[in-house]
Amino acid sequence: MKKICKILSAIFVLSLSFMSPVNAVELRYAGCPEGGRHSMEVVARAIMYEGTYQNPGKLITTGGKYYKCTKCDMGIVTQFSPHVSGCLGAYIFDSRNYTGSALVVSYGVEGYEWSWPTGYIWDGMDWLD
Ligand SMILES: [Zn+2]
Repeated sequence: MKKICKILSAIFVLSLSFMSPVNAVELRYAGCPEGGRHSMEVVARAIMYEGTYQNPGKLITTGGKYYKCTKCDMGIVTQFSPHVSGCLGAYIFDSRNYTGSALVVSYGVEGYEWSWPTGYIWDGMDWLD
């Protein structure tokens, strides 16, 4: 009997946690530490390789984009520009210090997005033209 009560009270506590307004708060996006969404602006053209600096492997593109947040300097290299292509294609987050070069060479792929990027990370970004 004691065990059943324990189970029932556990279920009750669990159901409370689902109904509680505190737990109803959901994170919609990972925003910019400087406030609001990241403002991703193209600062350079990117050559993307699939592999590493030592072993570049497959060339993905010579016409990629290097985006940086105008507020916090977070950077990402993408195969495509979402405003033009509706997707990112191959991408890799890369926040190294931007030196003002019009061309960056990027190694490695973190993932692929073949449609307009949505979700926890992407919803926190505005892609500037
Ligand atoms: Zn930012």
